[in-house]
Amino acid sequence: MAQYDFTVKRGKPIDSGRLKKDLNKSASIAAAAAFSEQITKGPMLQRCPVCDSAKHRKLLTVYGFDYHECNGCGSAFVCNPPADEALSDAYRSDYYTTANKVLYANDSIIDYRVAQVFTPKIEFAIEHSSASKKTWLDIGCGVGEALSVAKGHGYATLGLEPNVMEAEYAAKRFGVEVRQDYISKDTVSKYRGQYGVISMFSVLEHVPDPNQILSDVSAIQGEGDTLVIEVPHFPSISTMSQMTFPNHVNRMMHPPLHLFLFSLRGLEGMLKRHGYKINAAWLFGQDFYEMISTLGLFAPELNQSKLLLALSPMMSDLQAVIDSNDLSDEVLVVAERT
Ligand SMILES: [Zn+2]
Repeated sequence: MAQYDFTVKRGKPIDSGRLKKDLNKSASIAAAAAFSEQITKGPMLQRCPVCDSAKHRKLLTVYGFDYHECNGCGSAFVCNPPADEALSDAYRSDYYTTANKVLYANDSIIDYRVAQVFTPKIEFAIEHSSASKKTWLDIGCGVGEALSVAKGHGYATLGLEPNVMEAEYAAKRFGVEVRQDYISKDTVSKYRGQYGVISMFSVLEHVPDPNQILSDVSAIQGEGDTLVIEVPHFPSISTMSQMTFPNHVNRMMHPPLHLFLFSLRGLEGMLKRHGYKINAAWLFGQDFYEMISTLGLFAPELNQSKLLLALSPMMSDLQAVIDSNDLSDEVLVVAERT
């Protein structure tokens, strides 16, 4: 297990019933492949967008996009990302919009997501936050789960969400203020100095230049303020499973939606360049589920098998072993502006 000079929490309990319910993801994989394959690939990048190193090597090709691993920071990135316009089109596509409605803007699971997924993350962030102001800005707030929990903990909240459907859902469902806005050089002055806590859950992996958005966020905040970031983590058992079966991916190394999967060192270095130090990190994930559901594509006999039923109640324990080896597929960091 790697040593860091900040607190590292490893592991988060998982809904063990999930394995029993649905191992079959072949339809979802086919849709993911069709979506990614028709997007025009861009020219090869020379330098790692996370740390600017020119030394990186190809890991695998997924649906025509090449993921490279950076020798400088240990992160993985799409080396032939689409042009900005093609990327924007991808986020307006039926594939993306429908997936978000099923996964997030869905009344039947939203309460579960608030209680089981977001409450522990927001409480971890508050526990390790150094901020004195009880104001919270969630950039890319989606359907508002994080805002709802932060509000419940007494924070004055504001969400920014460019997606109209999600922004409207958040405002209606949780009564939180959401603006269809985004952080950029042009909007920095509007938000400067107001937010003790800024969070970005599942944002940095989607933007072509994560250093630019961190530079803008850093310009908004002052010393002692808190920045909370959750991103896909690399390397992980999930990404190793996907590197073994690169034609069977529907999450994590799914291009061009995830342009980056960050190593904890890469994240630490990038935050440091923008004036932040990490107070605490939390590694957790769904790697065991990812691996066994991928194996299930090749061995459908696994579905409803005694083997699967026996493994199901052990999911959290099996994932905990992966987490304790720093091979989880997600990482959450709480950083302080210095
Ligand atoms: Zn790098």
